[in-house]
Amino acid sequence: MNEDIDWGSLPFGYYPTDYNVRCAFRDGKWGPIEVTKSDTVNIHMAATALHYGQEIFEGLKAFRGVDGKIRIFRWEENAKRIRQSAEGLLMEPIPEEIFKEMCVQAVKLNERFIPPYGTGASLYIRPLEIGMSARVGVKEADEYLFIVMVTPVGPYFKGGFKNTNICIMREYDRVAPQGTGRFKCGGNYAASLTAGHKAHSLGYSAVLYLDPKEKKYLDECGPANFYAIKDGKYITPKSDSILPSITNMSLMTLAREMGMEVEQRHITVDELEECSEAAACGTAAVCSPIGEIDDLDTGKKYIMSKDGKPGPVTTKFYNTLNAIRLGEVPDTHGWNLIVE
Ligand SMILES: *Cc1c(COP(=O)(O)O)cnc(C)c1O
Repeated sequence: MNEDIDWGSLPFGYYPTDYNVRCAFRDGKWGPIEVTKSDTVNIHMAATALHYGQEIFEGLKAFRGVDGKIRIFRWEENAKRIRQSAEGLLMEPIPEEIFKEMCVQAVKLNERFIPPYGTGASLYIRPLEIGMSARVGVKEADEYLFIVMVTPVGPYFKGGFKNTNICIMREYDRVAPQGTGRFKCGGNYAASLTAGHKAHSLGYSAVLYLDPKEKKYLDECGPANFYAIKDGKYITPKSDSILPSITNMSLMTLAREMGMEVEQRHITVDELEECSEAAACGTAAVCSPIGEIDDLDTGKKYIMSKDGKPGPVTTKFYNTLNAIRLGEVPDTHGWNLIVE
């Protein structure tokens, strides 16, 4: 145990750990898994990752459960998704077994950085793949590096589970209609920084992007998916430019189990008027409930929470998913991998 860390106040940031795990693709094959203490990468200055954006990543979490066991949440889905991202950017897909083995090793080797149960903190696992070959002409690499690093992160809601406000801005798009939105690549984030910065400076926690083609339908909420509750139904946008969130997928399962109907479909901006709750969802927060959505172009304000508190459905989702991840309730779907 690492006595010096104040787990509850850790930010969502980089905190150095002891080891990271790497695997290189060279001469047409993935090599051995290597463990290193170094937190830097030696990379050719002409590497495709640096020039042409061949960079993809994942994000998942490991938890110390109520029974003291270590659990990794839904790693298979992250393994599948990074495969799709690799295919989307013409990179080398990482075999699932390598992905799993490296996540498990990275967690075990850094066991002293897994926050204790009850702190609300977790060990964030960040796998990433980069194109390593030197290119000047635009062409994919034939050498890749896959790294799994971990870092302890504090609870997302430091001052308790509460609402934030977000905004709609038509001036910027995160991704193109048939672009890379459904892949988890660094380029999408670079493209969202200006809009995100502007939203933050106006006091909003995120931008609710509209579909980049018609600007008619809701798309994503910054680096998270969006859902709302309308007439007791769970509604979430469907679009080719949305990153398929594993949290959203899990919430859809929980919603059905709670007896709610689930609709994955186009949602128009006006429909927000008829919603009783809305939230952003992703691994970092599970759910981040939304108080108000301000349309900066029309001046219209959509109130998602009348009493200023997180809604009952979102609160239930948040508590249930956290309880599953911490082993407090039975894991009926086999979502957790117990690390022995
Ligand atoms: C990672 C990510 C999400 C959330 O996905 P989870 O699997 O739930 O963590 C949502 N949107 C974008 C753009 C992302 O990169």
